[in-house]
Amino acid sequence: MNTYLMDRRRNTIHRDGCPGLPMFQNRVYLGDFADSDRALEEGRKLSAQVKACTHCL
Ligand SMILES: [Zn+2]
Repeated sequence: MNTYLMDRRRNTIHRDGCPGLPMFQNRVYLGDFADSDRALEEGRKLSAQVKACTHCL
């Protein structure tokens, strides 16, 4: 399991610890998921435009 967060300004999903994560106030905690597809699904509930970070996912 990995912890996933979303950058709510750029609508990007990151794994916890990614150097590309935004400042704390722009992060949304998505949850702990076995794979990034689940995290993307969750992110799509918040934004239809959501993308995976090319650095960490
Ligand atoms: Zn990332």
